Amino acid sequence: MTPTKIVLDENDMPKKWYNVQADLPTPLDPPIDSKTMEPVTPDALAAIFPMEVIKQEVSSERYITIPEEVRDIYRIWRPSPLIRAKRLEEHLKTPAKIYYKWEGVSPAGSHKPNTAIPQAFYNMKEGVERIATETGAGQWGSALAFATSFFDIECTVYMVRASYDQKPYRKSLMQAWGATCIPSPSNLTEAGRAVLKKYPNTGGSLGASISEAIEDAATHSNTNYSLGSVLNHVCMHQTVIGLETQKQFEMIDTYPDTVIGCVGGGSNFAGMAFPFARDKYKKTHPDTEIVAVEPMACPTLTKGLYEYDYCDVAGLTPITKMYTLGHDFMPPAIHAGGLRYHGDSPLVSKLVKEGVIRAESYHQTEVLEAAVTFARTEGHVVAPESAHAVKAAIEEALRCKKTGEEKTIVFNNSGHGNFDMTAYDAYFDGSMIDYEYPLELIQQALKRLPKVNQR
Ligand SMILES: *Cc1c(COP(=O)(O)O)cnc(C)c1O
Repeated sequence: MTPTKIVLDENDMPKKWYNVQADLPTPLDPPIDSKTMEPVTPDALAAIFPMEVIKQEVSSERYITIPEEVRDIYRIWRPSPLIRAKRLEEHLKTPAKIYYKWEGVSPAGSHKPNTAIPQAFYNMKEGVERIATETGAGQWGSALAFATSFFDIECTVYMVRASYDQKPYRKSLMQAWGATCIPSPSNLTEAGRAVLKKYPNTGGSLGASISEAIEDAATHSNTNYSLGSVLNHVCMHQTVIGLETQKQFEMIDTYPDTVIGCVGGGSNFAGMAFPFARDKYKKTHPDTEIVAVEPMACPTLTKGLYEYDYCDVAGLTPITKMYTLGHDFMPPAIHAGGLRYHGDSPLVSKLVKEGVIRAESYHQTEVLEAAVTFARTEGHVVAPESAHAVKAAIEEALRCKKTGEEKTIVFNNSGHGNFDMTAYDAYFDGSMIDYEYPLELIQQALKRLPKVNQR
């Protein structure tokens, strides 16, 4: 009998991150500076990022050593368990085996500290005294607050006003770790003041908060900026998830047939998927199905275009080749706040384009239904974001039931839902609405993409 919980020894924690850029058949298209319309130079990034992070962003080395100081903090919750969802399998009466990698064991409750810790560490090494960032639902802000507390770095988090008012406990968590959490737009920055002048009562947006945090970092010499998803180095830091998972499957002489993760900016998915993509490229396991799951209300990979676009609403950030719904696409206010992004990680986008990964999308009601089934069989109450992966795993297990296939399915369970109970409430009281974004609106937004001469 295989064990329910497959646990690694602390010493089996990966010593290196895996960089999928080393195995791409063709390199990524470079990000373009929106002012010069030329590829972004490292110098332009040095105003807000540490040099080591910039190097990792463009590195083509296959493996990059995880600093011992970072591994030492990872040890608080890593290696995270790989758990067999036996009771869910029995409930579904499927011949498939379902496993999940449980990232909800981190102190912040999600996978996000896997990158927050190294980012804080590299900033400390380079003498940075304060980091500014933005947060939507509060998950990234709390992860960075947790991380900076180890390195005596101040942390300023611009939190989207609507979430700040609706989810006060994420703000409390940031405070507990010593960070300052400011409702955004604020009157502390030019960008914030400009938005407030136009819309005095606005609930804010992620785009506006990004602009505030970048301005704060760019205008204070002791302050850097930090991003919790999308970028190449963030995806690479998350590969501890997939590398551990592979070792855990080795312990039970198994290799999964289907690998699943939810996608917002793409980081937790990339962390699970890229080591398996490596084995597809190497042809040691060419047939693994790798599935990215997104909300029907924000269908970047399933309905967007693979084109150059801005990463933020205001058009301040570099122009990046990725799947996009258009930078002024305003996704409806779904409960999985972490999955409301018009674009996607350039690396995840490229692998989808190349057919290494396929994408699926689901409505939030069926996603929450899956989350409740999971809570009632496996016990863990998962984040609404993670519930998208639960839903896709259940669908795959039910397909196996029809065909009789005994596939091994694994999904990344990116975080717990202990601060997200309003989503469960909305599901239980029947007030949850499903949105399918009208194709015409996506097509209109896609007409406003920036023009880049592709070389
Ligand atoms: C932030 C978050 C996500 C979405 O972000 P990615 O970068 O796509 O991983 C998913 N799940 C949880 C629990 C999160 O906190």
